Amino acid sequence: MRRVYTSDNVTKAWHIRNVLEQHDIQAVVKNEQLYSVAGEVPITECMPEVWVGDLFFARADQIIRDIENSAEPEGQDWICNSCKEVNAGSFGLCWNCQASAD
Ligand SMILES: [Zn+2]
Repeated sequence: MRRVYTSDNVTKAWHIRNVLEQHDIQAVVKNEQLYSVAGEVPITECMPEVWVGDLFFARADQIIRDIENSAEPEGQDWICNSCKEVNAGSFGLCWNCQASAD
């Protein structure tokens, strides 16, 4: 297994885990209590962590990035499919030709 996420917040770690499970990725939260899982991690590391199987790491990492990005009020700039103009992430429609962001 690999660690895909570390948080200082147990609630957030569990949120990440739940979202991953919704994507059929088995994930476990470690260090949710202030003692470590016996022998698996050093006792000094008590930040909550989310771990996934190696095969799922890349996908889980991407999903977590999406979660973190969507937490920001303004998303990333996007390029209009119709006229190729660059639009701010907060725009739902292209400023130039009114095409949908989707
Ligand atoms: Zn456009």
